[in-house]
Amino acid sequence: MDLSRRIARSKPLATTAMHGRVDAMKACGDDVIDFSIAISHFQAPPTVLDAVQHGLAQPYLPYTAVAGDSQIRARLAAKVVKENAIPARPEEILVTNGAKQALYQALYVMADPGDTVIIFKPHWPAYVATCELLELKPVLVDLPLEINDTLLDSLPPARILIINNPHNPTGAVLKQQELDCIAAWMKRTGTRAIVDESYEKLIFDGSHISLAARGNWQELGIVTLYSASQSYAMMGWRAGFAVAPAHLVAAMETLQGPITAAAPMLMQLAMAAAFESGEPDAMLEDYRQRRNLVLDLVCGLPWMTMHCPASGPYLWGDISSLTMDTIHFSEQLLAEYAVAVMPGEALGVPGYIRIGYISDDVATLRRGVQAIIHFGNRLHNAA
Ligand code: PMP
Repeated sequence: MDLSRRIARSKPLATTAMHGRVDAMKACGDDVIDFSIAISHFQAPPTVLDAVQHGLAQPYLPYTAVAGDSQIRARLAAKVVKENAIPARPEEILVTNGAKQALYQALYVMADPGDTVIIFKPHWPAYVATCELLELKPVLVDLPLEINDTLLDSLPPARILIINNPHNPTGAVLKQQELDCIAAWMKRTGTRAIVDESYEKLIFDGSHISLAARGNWQELGIVTLYSASQSYAMMGWRAGFAVAPAHLVAAMETLQGPITAAAPMLMQLAMAAAFESGEPDAMLEDYRQRRNLVLDLVCGLPWMTMHCPASGPYLWGDISSLTMDTIHFSEQLLAEYAVAVMPGEALGVPGYIRIGYISDDVATLRRGVQAIIHFGNRLHNAA
């Protein structure tokens, strides 16, 4: 049967597609090192595992209200009040199967086909893919070193600005002054914002501040997304939530009802426990050491520049002096060295590669990075 016009022109997400390819190679017995996405080698926090045990001992795991169990929503509202200084009430919380679902639903209820959405690049591929699925018009703008009034005033008129803070893949964390400029611009222009704070707990330097940590966030139209995937190493649990003005939560609930109904009750219990588990200090220290190890290994390479990221599970390498065709670079690296990285093209910026460095053990990390160095040196010396 023919595919619908809508889906026929869409492609699978570059990130999940690459990861799927690696999985298929592994299933065929290939020893592939996968840096293409960031899957933590950590387990979920112990309190999450306890919450699941406790949930399993309940006589029932019922359907909950579509937006989430009322007690879970109250616990998540308490988390954002306490940790993010967002004055939110339980009816402003919507529990979803990960931030991706929350993003889709937020864009669906905030914009109509043809509306413009501004996205800074490099960007998480799902922002653009979701806009395209919804027939919105993504406009990609270079991520500036600093967001200020001049930059904001140069942006085209748009319905929504998507912000990723902390940022995948650069690790940039927005400062209070930048957030205040964004809030003032939103007020001036009526543009709404979706802020993805999925990496809020993975901060190495400085501190994370929410755009919605202000009394008029509902009036400005800020939707904030949270995910347990990265902050608590719970990628496969599919646990996330949105903080949005109550009328948007109600609209997202209308959309979610016929698709998935509520997120699974067991996952809701696990997620609330995760978001109450505090700072993942041991995990962060492990990531910091891995980050530093890779930076030491690549330091001084004439063909790659890699800045030390202030947050997150990725390193973003500029190899534009070697090649702008980083799809080809990544394909060759995978074919010849069995190491997968994410080419910058997938994130809107050719000439870069992204390395997710939190999977597997340190010896594998070292081996994979040494393979990249060997390959790059080869190309560099042949040039
Ligand atoms: N936002 C961004 C920018 C991400 O990179 C990720 C993880 N890849 C997520 C959100 C997590 O999404 P989910 O909760 O659907 O796993």
